Amino acid sequence: MTARDWVKRIDHWVFDLDNTLYPAASGLFAQIDVRMTAYVQRYLQIEIAEARDLQKRYYEEFGATLAGMMTRHGMEPHDFLENVHDVDYTPVKLDAPLAALIAGLPGKKLVFTNGPRQHARRVLDRLGIAQCFEGVFAIEDGQFAPKPSVLAFERLQARFGFVPGQALFFDDLANNIAAGKAFGMRTALVRSGKSPHGHPAEADLVIDGLHASLAEIGRAVRL
Ligand SMILES: [Mg+2]
Repeated sequence: MTARDWVKRIDHWVFDLDNTLYPAASGLFAQIDVRMTAYVQRYLQIEIAEARDLQKRYYEEFGATLAGMMTRHGMEPHDFLENVHDVDYTPVKLDAPLAALIAGLPGKKLVFTNGPRQHARRVLDRLGIAQCFEGVFAIEDGQFAPKPSVLAFERLQARFGFVPGQALFFDDLANNIAAGKAFGMRTALVRSGKSPHGHPAEADLVIDGLHASLAEIGRAVRL
C-alpha cells in the first residue's frame, strides 16, 4: 500500500464491520453464515444444499441473503437478523491498538455494515472501538438495502452528508469496493479470505494488515 496525497483530503473514514474491523480468521462471520443457511432451510422447508445455493445466489444478486429473502419470499427481517446473529462473540477480542489508530485519523469515522445495529454494537464493544465512531449505519438504517446497492450508499450519504471523493471506504469484498468507487468514494480493499488476488482497478488501496495500513495512512495524513 502506498498512501498518496489524496489521503490528506479525506474527512470521512467509512469502515465495513465484518471481516474488516476484525479478522475473518476469528470465525465470527463464519458462524453467522452457517446460521443464515439453517434459517433459509427452515423458512423455506428445503434441503440444506438447496438453501446454501439459494443463499449464494441471493448474495450475488442482492448483496445479502436477507435482501433476497425479503424480495423473493416476503420474509420479515427482524426475526432473521436476531436469529442469525445469536452467535458466540468471544472470538472477537479487545483491540486497543486499533482504537488508537482509528481515533488518530482526522475527521469523522463511520461504520457502514450490512449487519443489524445490535450486532454492530456487540462487535464494536468487544473490540473496544465503539467510542471511535461518530455513527454506525446498520442495515436497518438503510431500510434494508444492502451494500453493494447504490441505494445503501445514497442513504448513508443522506445521513452523514459527506463528499464522496473525500471519503475513504474500507471493505473486504470486491463488489462492495466497486460500488463505493462507482459512487465516487476513495476505496481500500481490506484483504480477507474472500478477497480476490491482485489489485482490482476499483481499489485505490489494497490492505493486507489493517493496523499497519492505518498507521501508514495516519502518518501520511500528518505529513
Ligand atoms: Mg465485510
